[in-house]
Amino acid sequence: MSGRLAIAIDLGGTQLRAALVDGAKVLRRAAEPTDAVGGPDAVLDQMRRLIASVEGDADHAQVAGIGISAPGPLDGETGTILHIPTLPGWDDYPLCDRLRDITGRTVVLENDGISAAVGEWRHGAGQGLDHLVYVTVSTGIGGGVIADGRVLHGRRGMAGHVGHFTMTPDGPRCPCGVVGCFEAHASGTALGKRARAAAIAHPESALGALARDGHVDARHVVAAARDGDAVARALIDEEAWLLGRGFASLVHLYSPERVIMGGGVVSGFDLMEARIHHVMRENLMPAFRDVVVVPAGLGENAGLVGAAALILDQAL
Ligand SMILES: [Zn+2]
Repeated sequence: MSGRLAIAIDLGGTQLRAALVDGAKVLRRAAEPTDAVGGPDAVLDQMRRLIASVEGDADHAQVAGIGISAPGPLDGETGTILHIPTLPGWDDYPLCDRLRDITGRTVVLENDGISAAVGEWRHGAGQGLDHLVYVTVSTGIGGGVIADGRVLHGRRGMAGHVGHFTMTPDGPRCPCGVVGCFEAHASGTALGKRARAAAIAHPESALGALARDGHVDARHVVAAARDGDAVARALIDEEAWLLGRGFASLVHLYSPERVIMGGGVVSGFDLMEARIHHVMRENLMPAFRDVVVVPAGLGENAGLVGAAALILDQAL
């Protein structure tokens, strides 16, 4: 195996994306809505089309292989999807074997949170570090951990489920089924839920006005807070407090040099940064208090760049 380019695939519950990647650069990209109803065979067909489309006239020998980023849980060692809550019919599906049979290429499979962590580590806000925690705060909270200069995998490659440690012994219930997870409290979905309640309680606020026009979610909170709406500012302060508490726990667990925050909610990072750091310092043991949180550097490309990096690292 050789080559300096890689094909990356991001298998999502709603979007299937593919890209031809050179280091941190996405040279070509293509996407289709994931054929969830058609199941794995239909999606495999989509992958073949997208791969051909992004590969274009690239020199075949220059492409080292295919890296796939997918929701978990999955077994990266055997290249098998174990279960995807948003995609029925994928249980125990040997995705790497199937795609290798079709394409004749080397294929690696990694959890989407870990793929993004690798992307940020190799080419984003974590370059040059030996220890980092990447946390994406969007619909849910996911991520990955780099420790001692390598990807932390754990048993069956399932380590670093950074959204699912318990923050409170009682509610709210997390989509994973457990009560009180960090994700259940601090995800963009949770923030949106609090925003809708606040909009009803304060119809005179900017958020209240938005709620009359339609759906309110985390993006509206960030926009209204930026415009100085007091109700939205209070929601952002609460979100920063929750993130600060959660990040402090992750720092105690993994002792990273840096926490890297990605996902949709990071669009309000500048509004939350000071309070996140204040809350972290209040909740960290003294020896950990110099650890900072920084926004991710690669945006929505982190997973694709990371999946490509997994192939290119292997090629080296
Ligand atoms: Zn959970």
